[in-house]
Amino acid sequence: KASQSNGAAPAEGIPGVKHVIAVSSGKGGVGKSTFAVNLACAFSQILEAEGKKAGIMDCDIYGPSVPLMLGLSGRPYVEGDSLIPMEGHNLSVMSMGFLVDEDTPVVWRGPMVMKTIQQFSQNVKWGDLELLVVDLPPGTGDAQLSLVQTIPLSGAVLVTTPQPAATQVAKRGARMLEKTNVKILGVAENMSYLEGPDGSRQNIFGEGGGPQTASDLKTDFLGQIPLDQSIREGGDAGTPIVLSKPDSQAAKVFKEIANTL
Ligand code: ADP
Repeated sequence: KASQSNGAAPAEGIPGVKHVIAVSSGKGGVGKSTFAVNLACAFSQILEAEGKKAGIMDCDIYGPSVPLMLGLSGRPYVEGDSLIPMEGHNLSVMSMGFLVDEDTPVVWRGPMVMKTIQQFSQNVKWGDLELLVVDLPPGTGDAQLSLVQTIPLSGAVLVTTPQPAATQVAKRGARMLEKTNVKILGVAENMSYLEGPDGSRQNIFGEGGGPQTASDLKTDFLGQIPLDQSIREGGDAGTPIVLSKPDSQAAKVFKEIANTL
């Protein structure tokens, strides 16, 4: 659906890639990468049934966490002047994490970051991908702005936690996206509640931020992902909850969201 909604003409498509959906958050620590990885896995499952494939591009240059969350390490093959994406859980994956040592901080300035992003879109042999999920860096600065201008996006999903501090910056992020004509596909709320053994729900990070943000932005509210230890464990162990616990509430929500988009 996303592909039909962007009014702006794509600058230059990513060769072989049909749809590109960005995952964005105003601030760090809201679970953006966790969301992006699980959404990509959910898409992959849907597409696999149709003989199609999904991928994920980790544009969080300064703190790439996608490789760990998918259990991937090592260096991608180089073919001529192209990089071959790594493969994990039936996803094609490219991340700055594959290109620098784990304990080497990335200290590049804006132009270098932009060059890398350009290479990630133009010099990676993505192959035929129906859909590529892009994990954007957190924040709403220059890097994000030029990034969304470099990669032609079908649309973006905003991730927020329920508390006002997160929803405010999420809205700032949304305005940046709107300025660059990126269609906002919806808002997802992460860490929405903690469910007790008796089924009761505790709103650790407050309540209502996701739906409020969606209504303020006049976009769809996509769903609530609970706080769940298995989500953190799945991320740390390299098997996202969509795959490790497909019957969990969180996995169900991710699959619903993938189906909606
Ligand atoms: P961001 O990309 O926004 O900085 P991450 O996806 O890296 O955030 O998540 C931060 C931490 O919170 C990670 O350790 C991750 O496993 C954990 N986390 C994210 N979402 C949840 C959740 N719904 N339940 C439990 N832990 C979560």
